[in-house]
Amino acid sequence: MMRYAVIGAGVSGLSMAGMLLKKGHEAVVYEKDSRPGGLIKCAEVQGHLYHLVGGHVFNSRRQEVLDWFWSRFDKERDFVSARRRAVISLEGGNVVDYPIENHLDQFPEEARSSIVHELLEIYRNPPSEPRSLGEFFLNRFGKTLNDLYFTPYNNKVWRQDINGIAMDWLEDKLPMPTVAEILLNNIGRINESTMVHSSFFYAKRGGSQFLADTLAHGLKVVYGAQAAGICPENGKWRVQGELFDRVIFTGNARQLADCFPGMDELQPFLPRISALRSHGTTSVLCRIDPNDYSWIYMPSPAHRSHRIICTGNFSRNNNNGDVTTATIEFSEKMTEEEIRAQLELIPFSPAYLAHHWEEYTYPVQDASSRALIRELKNRLEPRGIYLLGRFAEWEYYNMDAAIGAALDLDKRLEAEQPSRG
Ligand SMILES: Cc1cc2nc3c(=O)[nH]c(=O)nc-3n(C[C@H](O)[C@H](O)[C@H](O)COP(=O)(O)OP(=O)(O)OC[C@H]3O[C@@H](n4cnc5c(N)ncnc54)[C@H](O)[C@@H]3O)c2cc1C
Repeated sequence: MMRYAVIGAGVSGLSMAGMLLKKGHEAVVYEKDSRPGGLIKCAEVQGHLYHLVGGHVFNSRRQEVLDWFWSRFDKERDFVSARRRAVISLEGGNVVDYPIENHLDQFPEEARSSIVHELLEIYRNPPSEPRSLGEFFLNRFGKTLNDLYFTPYNNKVWRQDINGIAMDWLEDKLPMPTVAEILLNNIGRINESTMVHSSFFYAKRGGSQFLADTLAHGLKVVYGAQAAGICPENGKWRVQGELFDRVIFTGNARQLADCFPGMDELQPFLPRISALRSHGTTSVLCRIDPNDYSWIYMPSPAHRSHRIICTGNFSRNNNNGDVTTATIEFSEKMTEEEIRAQLELIPFSPAYLAHHWEEYTYPVQDASSRALIRELKNRLEPRGIYLLGRFAEWEYYNMDAAIGAALDLDKRLEAEQPSRG
């Protein structure tokens, strides 16, 4: 059996440590924060639950992930199962159900007519392969839907002109309905309740902090322990004064050189590692008008937020008393003064309660970042260092994908010979 150091007590590190423990290995988790969770951490403000990042809900298409997750949690006792109800709040106050292209009946007649004619034109004369994300939306949905929603919404999320975002990594991440499918979905009134991710699980109390706390339960986690200066010693790794056979790194790939300062193998990669790009998020806890939505997408260029996550609707316990709370997201660092000015422009009358800036929330991925991580893994794994998680692998992982990656790594570690060079 091996001694593992796991760097980071987010979903990836906690899941991985739990899996290793189950196989009989020893695992010590080092977390620089004072609590577990990473991106899924929550706080309490005036008695309301506050997702400091996003508004994490859980589901998975991968049965193995579901099986593992429900082996750790009590579905009936601790979770609510909720239907996803997302809408798009268009400029001018029109609210259209998600996915927008399936609800053409909810548009004014003129816009509806343009959308249908543009879709028919795409059907008659299929456009050439898109070279950018902007072109993809235009080619797939036509000018009106693109101008009303896809481009302004995504420009806000990405904080850049999406005509400059290459397509090479996006294939499996984008909605790809054909014209025939869009028309059939409209005629058949297909809404998101019939789609795969139409429902989700959410903790009755404590939001995603409950997930982190439960996953951390029974593990050896050292909090307030920023792992740095990890050095080799007789074929092992010294982490915070202790020796380990292997290290699972779930922190940020950009910090690898600080974590492993003596590793010559990292040197040639440093320029490419420092060129990795990402976005941060300001999450604002607000009181908002009562509503029955789960997510409200906001393409309007009149303000800078792109999404309201109606966390107060996920579990009524998230609200203190008879109010409705939500998290409002901005893809940039904001001051309280700027936020308060922006809230005046946002629908559903948001009233400020608190805000939090998280610098690393969305890895910006492209073909070169994937190749870089692959090469890094090839170089580090023979030395007993494994990259796992959203920012260690620079992957656009949701919690279930992070757990899935841990399950895959667990299998690989099991299959590997214990001896290494
Ligand atoms: C806005 C937003 C909304 C999201 N919504 C959802 C959702 O609804 N559902 C869903 O499934 N997923 C969602 N996700 C994705 C989800 O947050 C991630 O998949 C998941 O949290 C990744 O976990 P992780 O452990 O890989 O990384 P992290 O959560 O980043 O964990 C890394 C941990 O390592 C620690 N660390 C880093 N460096 C060191 C060091 N040197 N020493 C010690 N500790 C260190 C950090 O403090 C952190 O705790 C969302 C993400 C965002 C940004």
